[in-house]
Amino acid sequence: MPARLIDGRAIAQTVQQEVRQAVEARLAAGKRAPGLAVVLVGDDPASHVYVRNKRRTCDAIGMESRSVDLPDNVSLGDLLDVIDELNADPTVDGILVQQPLPGHIDTEQVVERMDPAKDVDGFHPYNMGRLALRLPRLRPCTPYGVLRLLEATGETYKGRHGVIVGASNIVGRPMALELMLAGATVTVCHRFSTDTPEHVGRADIVIAAAGKPGLVRGDWIKPGATVIDVGINRLEDGSLAGDVEFDRAAERAAWITPVPGGVGPMTVAMLMKNTLQACEDAEQVASCFLP
Ligand code: NAD
Repeated sequence: MPARLIDGRAIAQTVQQEVRQAVEARLAAGKRAPGLAVVLVGDDPASHVYVRNKRRTCDAIGMESRSVDLPDNVSLGDLLDVIDELNADPTVDGILVQQPLPGHIDTEQVVERMDPAKDVDGFHPYNMGRLALRLPRLRPCTPYGVLRLLEATGETYKGRHGVIVGASNIVGRPMALELMLAGATVTVCHRFSTDTPEHVGRADIVIAAAGKPGLVRGDWIKPGATVIDVGINRLEDGSLAGDVEFDRAAERAAWITPVPGGVGPMTVAMLMKNTLQACEDAEQVASCFLP
């Protein structure tokens, strides 16, 4: 059965269009545009590309983007001071600190210094904890985007079996929480799992997020499954590949995401959605204190 492609670029465009319309409606009502501050530390080329993309998307949908570029040798104290300033700035609704940070910076301290109400990446323990408790507020962008891709297939995933390959804090774990919230039965495989092929073979939904090109073999896939490939791996020839052996998996799956053009564009789109939400939530909180 040749799988149907889930077109992440098109679905991300739809999400961005929704956010742009909401921003335009705010401006028409005399409100300000939501503001996103993107903090970049150092000169990592991949981080530069991601950050440029996020800033451009902000501009394209009419949000205010603030760029804070810091040198590779910035001290933890100076970086925390920047976070404090952004936390206190009422025109900044969302703060994103691009990861990975240089080795001398304790990423946990930086994430935890952020006001959880401005944590549009959804990585703060407060936001992750709320997701775990089925009270999501700002949701980690990549898993949130995957849910939107699943919705776009029109299939019902409640009660189905989802297998996630990868258990990181930014993808695999919040993905498991999102799938549980959506009513799926969830299995998580990780580097110590000894029976990943058997688990994947029973999955109605496979979500590959290990960062290992071709790890998930096409012949593991149960016929008719939905396959979401989060992996982005740069091969020696410079091309990009996912974690799934795409061609053979596509012969068995009902739905599959390409790499590139699948999950990647969704992550940025959901970041924009989170920034709009952070802005609207902040206004709601502020209005509670009006006399
Ligand atoms: P990570 O290295 O932090 O985590 C990888 C996870 O995979 C770990 O939990 C590890 O235990 C597991 N793993 C490793 N080898 C395994 C194996 N052989 N079998 C089963 N599990 C195994 O990576 P990450 O930050 O979660 O990213 C994973 C991939 O997703 C990378 O390719 C990354 O580039 C990509 N990514 C894409 C987006 C996007 O927007 N599309 C966003 C974030 C990450």
